[in-house]
Amino acid sequence: MKITIHRGTHQIGGCVTEYEYGGWRLFVDYGEELPGGPKTGDLRVEGLTHGDISKSALLITHYHGDHIGCITKLPKDLPIYMGKVGREILLELSNHLKTVSEVHHEMVERLQTVSPFNPGYPIDEFGNFKIMPITVDHSAFDAYAFKIEAGGVSAFHTGDFRTHGFRSSALPEVIKKFVGSVDYVVCEATNISRPAATNQSEQELQKEYIKLFTKNKYNVVYVSSTNVDRLFGLYHAAINTNKVFIIDGYQKKIMDVVAERDPIWGRSKLYKFKESREPMILSTSKGSFWMNDKFSNLIQDKGFVMIARSNTRFDSFIASIPGKKQTYLSMWDGYVREGSDTYSENLARSLGKGFLYMHTSGHCDMKSLRDFFRLLHPKAIIPIHTDNPKEFSQLFSDEWPVLLLNDGDSISLA
Ligand SMILES: [Zn+2]
Ligand SMILES: [Zn+2]
Repeated sequence: MKITIHRGTHQIGGCVTEYEYGGWRLFVDYGEELPGGPKTGDLRVEGLTHGDISKSALLITHYHGDHIGCITKLPKDLPIYMGKVGREILLELSNHLKTVSEVHHEMVERLQTVSPFNPGYPIDEFGNFKIMPITVDHSAFDAYAFKIEAGGVSAFHTGDFRTHGFRSSALPEVIKKFVGSVDYVVCEATNISRPAATNQSEQELQKEYIKLFTKNKYNVVYVSSTNVDRLFGLYHAAINTNKVFIIDGYQKKIMDVVAERDPIWGRSKLYKFKESREPMILSTSKGSFWMNDKFSNLIQDKGFVMIARSNTRFDSFIASIPGKKQTYLSMWDGYVREGSDTYSENLARSLGKGFLYMHTSGHCDMKSLRDFFRLLHPKAIIPIHTDNPKEFSQLFSDEWPVLLLNDGDSISLA
């Protein structure tokens, strides 16, 4: 089996990996490059973007734009596979945004032809490949790693993942049952260059929120609308502190995809709305949110936790509610770090001056990565999705050989 890293050896995001065996080409992820990093632009890859695609397929690890964002540029008849629930969440997101941009419209169309797979069941026959999707915990719901085998060689392709989420504790057991040992790990290494990223668990973060919601009557949280675990964590924190949980209709649809349709996690209490404690959904009139007297009295009485996005509709509605509101940033702080390429002036303005930064990373910390590698006993590790592969190599080469590649490099895995 030959591996080629077309992109992602020296940047976070935009990863494209190819596994080739006997003329069959299996690609993993085809996403956008993140702002602020190096830019390689549109890729030209034989068997993926052009040429003979009759023995090609593309697997998507999860719905974040840096993993799937460019699939609209690929040939229409290239088979693409992704998790069923993740596909539905991205459909909701793209449907919501399609009026704003043509790309989202194209994404809605392309997703119609994407084939869903389920965790723990091998993906359709593809050449002499054996492919097993393994569910992992990440800030995108329904995210996957893949065990890929061909010609007697196995690789574990991690996608983006972490070990400190609500659903992470199952990972060692899942690895034991569905993966075992592998020859190679192709691993995301995002946090090697983000030493400030803590490994506070999602549970610990939720406890902090409970303390703050107890203290503050009116709470406004800015969080990615597809960070489903965080959203349900905040919902339960709001219910726990007897606050009204307020979201808009779009956000409710995303949460419902998991609560109502996920065959495994939908049964868990975490993804259930408590009876008679359903979220309060914001009504819209002439493009603005509004509330009737009953709603207004209820939030004055109990206080609220509102899930907001940075836009004028939310800004003016929040401003119309009298009283002091505590704002929280519950996503990566690069969006409000002045001078950074990802800086969002609108988000910084919506948050105001006294906001609290309350977030934990969607990616693994380095100590947990070491424990994770020990479960898999690889012969060697190949880092991707990182802007500092050298440091990664220095950290782990005491225990495993680390193979450092440049974009476009191929090596034979034996
Ligand atoms: Zn990513
Ligand atoms: Zn991701």
